[in-house]
Amino acid sequence: MQIDLEQFRNPCSCGKVHEVSVRGIWIEEDAVRRLYQMLTEEEALGEFIAPVIVWDDNIKEAVEEKLEDVEDICLDEICLDSENLHANNRGVEILEENLPDETDLILAVGSGTIHDLCRYVAHQRRIPFISVPTAASVDGFVSTVAAMTWDGMKKTIPARAPIYVFADTNIIKEAPHRLTASGISDLLGKYIALADWKIAHLVTGEYICGEIVELEYEALKEVVSSIGDFAENDGESYEKLMYALLLSGLAMQMTGNSRPASCAEHHMSHLWEMEVINQPLDALHGEKVSVGMMQIRIKYAKIAEAIRAGSCNVRPYEGLEKNLLQETFGKKGLYESTIRENTPDPMAGIHVNELKAVLPQIADIIDEIPPAEELQRILKEGYCCYRMEQIGLSDALIEPSLRLSPYVRNRLSFNRISKMLEIE
Ligand SMILES: [Zn+2]
Ligand SMILES: [Zn+2]
Repeated sequence: MQIDLEQFRNPCSCGKVHEVSVRGIWIEEDAVRRLYQMLTEEEALGEFIAPVIVWDDNIKEAVEEKLEDVEDICLDEICLDSENLHANNRGVEILEENLPDETDLILAVGSGTIHDLCRYVAHQRRIPFISVPTAASVDGFVSTVAAMTWDGMKKTIPARAPIYVFADTNIIKEAPHRLTASGISDLLGKYIALADWKIAHLVTGEYICGEIVELEYEALKEVVSSIGDFAENDGESYEKLMYALLLSGLAMQMTGNSRPASCAEHHMSHLWEMEVINQPLDALHGEKVSVGMMQIRIKYAKIAEAIRAGSCNVRPYEGLEKNLLQETFGKKGLYESTIRENTPDPMAGIHVNELKAVLPQIADIIDEIPPAEELQRILKEGYCCYRMEQIGLSDALIEPSLRLSPYVRNRLSFNRISKMLEIE
C-alpha cells in the first residue's frame, strides 16, 4: 500500500494546515524493488548520482541480498559496527568520517538508531535521506527530530525527515520478533498518550487535532485486531503495524512535536533511561513504554473509579516538589536541568474549581482506554512486556516512578495533573 499523504495536506478541521514533508511512503512486499526503480528513473530519484547506503553488520547480513541491485548503483555502502552502536556523539563521528564528501543522498537501512544517525548527519550535510526500515520496532522513522544522547544527556535534536519511506514487508516480517513486539508496545502506548492529550485539552485548552486522534485510533484498532497473526508471519499484519507506526510519526510531523505519540507512558520510560532511581536497563524502547503504560493505566483506573464514587478531591497545586527533585535528579547532577525543563510549570494556571468541574469528563476519557486486563491480554498475545520485572525493575519502583516521571518532560499528562488529586 501507498499512504495517501495528500489527505493530510488539506486544510484540517482543527484550523491548521498540517505540514507533511515526506513525499511518499510505500509499505508493501518488495518495496526495495520500487526503491531501485525510482533510483534509476530520471524523473524520480535519478537526479541523485552519489547515493550511499548506511546500515550495520547485522542488518547488512540479513538484507544485503534483497538490496543487491540498489547497492550496485550506489556510490558506496557504510557498514557500522552494531556492537555498542548508539545514537550519540561517537556514532555521529564514525558516520561523518566514513561518509564520502560527494554523497548526495543517504539510504538509511535499519531500525531506530541507524535512522537517528542518518537523520542527524543528513541534516548537517544538507542532503536528503531515504528511510528503509528493517523492523517495525518504533514510530520514529519519519520523525523530524533525532533522539540523541549528547555528552551523556538525552536530547531531542532538530534534524530532518526522510523524503521517502520504503517499508518492505518481506524484510520487516523476518526481523527478530523482539523488535516487532517493541513496535507493538510503542504503538499501544498511544492509548495513554491520546487520552492524556484529550485531558490536557479539556483542562487547559491546549491545542488538539481531533482528526489526528481519530486516525491514530483507527490504526491502533487495526493492529489490535490482528495481534494474533504476527506469530504466523502474516504479511498483512506487519503492513498494518508499519502503517500505524508511520502514521504516528506523521502525526508528530503534522503537529510539529511528539504530543500525539508520547505522554505519561513515555515519561516512565524516559525516567528509567535517566537512571536516577534504577540501574541501567537492557530493554528496548517499546518494552519500557508498555511496562510504563500498564502502571499508568492501573493508576488512572483507580482515579476514575474514585471520581465516580465521589471520593476524589481536588486540592490546590503546591508547585514543583523541589526537595524530591533534589534528592533524586540532584544525585545525578540533573537538578538544574530538571528545573529548567519544568519552567514554565505546565501545571501553572490549573485551578481547583475548574479541575473539579471537569472530573466526570476526565473519568469518561479514562474509561475509553482499554482496561488494564485487556491491555495485558493484548500485550501477552503479541509477546510484549507488561510487568516491571520483565525489564529488570522491581515493583518497589512503581510508586516513585509514577511520582517522578511527570518531571522528565514539560508536557502535561493526567499523571501530572493527579498531583492535585487526593483519593479519600
Ligand atoms: Zn488537524
Ligand atoms: Zn515511542
